Amino acid sequence: MAVLIDGKAIAQKVKEEVAAGSEALVREYGEAARPNMTLIVVGSDAVSRKLVSMKAADCEAAGIIPTVITLSESTTEEKLLRLIERLNEDEDVRAILCQLPLPEHISTKKVLAAIAPDKDVDGFSARIDSDDYDVAACTPAAVMRMLRESGVDVAGKHCVVVGRSNIVGKPMAIQLLLNDATVTVCHSKTRDIAEHTKRADVLIVAVGRPRFVTGDMVKDGAVVIDVGMNYIDGRPVGDVAFDEVEPKASMITPVPGGVGPMTRAGLLVNALTLAERKAK
Ligand code: NAP
Repeated sequence: MAVLIDGKAIAQKVKEEVAAGSEALVREYGEAARPNMTLIVVGSDAVSRKLVSMKAADCEAAGIIPTVITLSESTTEEKLLRLIERLNEDEDVRAILCQLPLPEHISTKKVLAAIAPDKDVDGFSARIDSDDYDVAACTPAAVMRMLRESGVDVAGKHCVVVGRSNIVGKPMAIQLLLNDATVTVCHSKTRDIAEHTKRADVLIVAVGRPRFVTGDMVKDGAVVIDVGMNYIDGRPVGDVAFDEVEPKASMITPVPGGVGPMTRAGLLVNALTLAERKAK
């Protein structure tokens, strides 16, 4: 039976660290230095709105002041870009988040690129440069922290990432490389994915397809991280067929309660880092 990597418990520890960090910052530089986060949500998608309200509640618990801006589905790209420009220029705004997905008539690429790197709390603008990785993409940073907390050192190990999106797969591969792993990245054009996943010491799956990785695709004793978050009949389901993979793995993350809460905690870490940079 695999050890369950408890994202909720690790996230709680991270939140407490951030809360202590926020108070230390305020003690040193005054209330004006307190971290804050402006969260933008466009449209009426229930999951997006719920996620934003959860992120705002996380902020409050960690001594970070949240401001939620809710825009209608019909908001134009131009209006959203103008709002981001205004927030970029506002000296009092320390961190900006734009909840994805955006309505189809708005370019996600343009919107994310418009957020000033020194306010990009999601860490999407982190360059392939270790100096910039103190504000890293939250999900890959969350995975790295979960591995560290579980005593998994990726140095020298073969890590296989399934998925190459700009927000998960690619920055995940970079963070693994920065930690001396040997990395294979698979995607929709990869031939015989199982041939690669079966050789993984650490398998990280971010595909967006329920139960994509089955038991026969995993080597005995592998550490398996399921980033996937799919909804079937309103219930969250991962990209890994947990019931088949868990008996073979040495460690595995559940869905829900795995990477999700840790990604949200990662946002708080980034918000504190951005506020500290600004104060100093
Ligand atoms: P995405 O942008 O849709 O990217 C999916 C990736 O999977 C792409 O690189 C795609 O390959 C690859 N892929 C799709 N079908 C495949 C197939 N049949 N075989 C091999 N590769 C395939 O998704 P994402 O934003 O990275 O998110 C991935 C999953 O993680 C989703 O379920 C999302 O909800 C979840 N997620 C969870 C969290 C969290 O905090 N838990 C955070 C972010 C995302 P191509 O590039 O070739 O198209």
